[in-house]
Formats: sequence, structure tokens, C-alpha cells
Amino acid sequence: MKRAIRSVNTLLSMIELESKVQDLTDEASDFPLFVPLPYLERIEKGNSDDPLLRQVLPVADERESPEHFSIDPLGEQSATLRDGLIQKYQKRVLVIASRTCAINCRYCFRRHFPYETAALGDQRWSETIDSIAADDTINEVILSGGDPLTVTDEKLADVFNRLEAVEHLQRIRLHTRLPIVIPQRVTDGLLKMIGKFRRSRTGRQVVMVVHSNHANEIDDAVCRSLSRLSDSATQLLNQSVLLAGVNDDTDTLVRLSERLLSANTLPYYLHQLDPVEGTAHFEVPVSTGLKLIEEIRARLPGYAVPRYVQELAGEPGKTVLA
Ligand SMILES: *Cc1c(COP(=O)(O)O)cnc(C)c1O
Ligand code: SF4
Repeated sequence: MKRAIRSVNTLLSMIELESKVQDLTDEASDFPLFVPLPYLERIEKGNSDDPLLRQVLPVADERESPEHFSIDPLGEQSATLRDGLIQKYQKRVLVIASRTCAINCRYCFRRHFPYETAALGDQRWSETIDSIAADDTINEVILSGGDPLTVTDEKLADVFNRLEAVEHLQRIRLHTRLPIVIPQRVTDGLLKMIGKFRRSRTGRQVVMVVHSNHANEIDDAVCRSLSRLSDSATQLLNQSVLLAGVNDDTDTLVRLSERLLSANTLPYYLHQLDPVEGTAHFEVPVSTGLKLIEEIRARLPGYAVPRYVQELAGEPGKTVLA
């Protein structure tokens, strides 16, 4: 992550697109370009329409702001139990384990999230785990972010150990894009702590929901890392966002599902874009999304068709569109 590219000009020169891309937005925005090298290597040189490039390059279209797009469309601010802890749904709580991501995705639904106050410092970790331990209706903790795998193995192992001591906890779930962005992040240390939590009580599980939107993101190194996780008996799922110009066609979605299956990862959710300011140019109409799902259903086994969902503020779970 230290060596990640932070400058639009550097990025464009590395992928041989200087002077070919003009519609850029102001670099000094509060959500800067951030692309690690292992991800950059998967962007096709000289292709200004590359689906991976489109996910990371700040463009002028981000200044458009249609009326139904806002800063906090999901009502996360009001579902916050305490700093860094969000509970919207029964039995599972979401912990903002880190304020950092390994990549800045332009369509991100948390691009305006106030991480400065929400991410967990050491003392807040203790308080957060105490409040999970005090509520025995909670059986699953979701480590999210930012990206929870930006936390060091040492710190994560400490968190896993403390969660292990919470008797009513059945599952730890990680919502992370890191195994896709920097597959080397799947370390021996990580596999070890996952195994230790699983063995601590019968039926305990670790679920990892990775985030990939296009088959080109899943190269051999990513496949190897996902297979190692799968060998450690981690339940692997993937969530994608339906994105105009990235994956809004049948062939692309079918290829993504096939590629995920070959990496032992089941397609879980295909998200309708959350209407967050600056992302309107990625929006695909729900009617198109429904049609795409119908078409991929005809070409894939049922377990390879993701649930097409939308998050609506105040609902008891994600709303399933198809
Ligand atoms: C999406 C989400 C979850 C997880 O929902 P699942 O349907 O179980 O994947 C939990 N908490 C919050 C706040 C969420 O946004
Ligand atoms: S990895 Fe996830 S949280 Fe981080 S910028 Fe991308 S979409 Fe947002």
C-alpha cells in the first residue's frame, strides 16, 4: 500500500494513456486516486475503457449530482450504536474495523463516511467487544471498514482472540476487497487465526465476503489466495456492484461468476448502486438489472447467480430485487 499510485498522471503514464484521457476531475478532491501496483498490473495498457481503470480513475462525471443522490442515502449515521459499531439488522453487527482501504473505488457507497471519528482506536476496540459480549442476541460480527484486512495480523489476531471468548458468537465475517486488490495479503498468519477461531467451538465459522466486479480482477495470484482461504475452510462469498461501463452486460456477469466458481467463491450479492453523490454515472436502471439477471440465470447453475439486492434505509435486511 505504501507503493500504491496516488497521482493520476503517474497512473496514466504507466498504462500508456497520457493525453488520451481528458475528462478528469480535480485531483485534490477529498477522495483521491489510490491504486496499488498488483491491481494496476491487471489494467490493460492503452485501453481507456478498461473496466478496472473505470473503477479507480477520477473523472469529470463525478461532479454531476442528480436529485436522488446524497451523502448518506443508507441512513448509516442514524444506525450507529456507538463509534465504529453499526447495527441495522437482527443478530449481526457491523464493526468499522479500519478507516483505510487498499484501493479507492470511485463508486464507493462510503466515500463520504466520516471515518475520522468512526474508525476504532485501541480503547474503542475494547469497548466495542465489551458491548458485543454484553448482548447475547448477537451471533455474528462483521468486520468491515474501510477494509478490515488493512489492520495488521498482530492486531487482528488480538481481536479474533477476544471475540473467541464471547460465547454466543458463532461467526466472524470479513467484508474485504484486499484478497482481490493485493492477493499477497492472504498471509499464513491470517490463515492461522481463522483456523484457531473455527476450532475454538463446534460449528464456529469464518465467512469472508470479497468484492470483485469483473473477471479481469481475478488473475492467477488472486485464484491462489482464494484457494488457500478455501482450504482453511473459510466460507467464501463475493459481492459485486452493478456498474455502468464495467459489468452491465450478460457476458461480463457470466464470466465473473464462472471465474469466481473456479476460485471456490460463490456469487452472493449483486448490489444496485447506492445513490451516493459523485457516483451517478455508474448507475444502471433496475429494469436493466432485472433483465440481466434473467439472462444470466439461463446460462449459469442456480448457485452461480447472485442475489440482486438494493439497500433501502430502515428495512430489516437488504431488499431482494431478483
Ligand atoms: C449489508 C449489511 C449487513 C449484512 O447483511 P447480510 O444480508 O447478512 O449480508 C449487516 N449490517 C449492515 C449495516 C449492512 O449494511
Ligand atoms: S474497497 Fe469497498 S469500502 Fe473501500 S473504497 Fe472500495 S468499495 Fe469502498
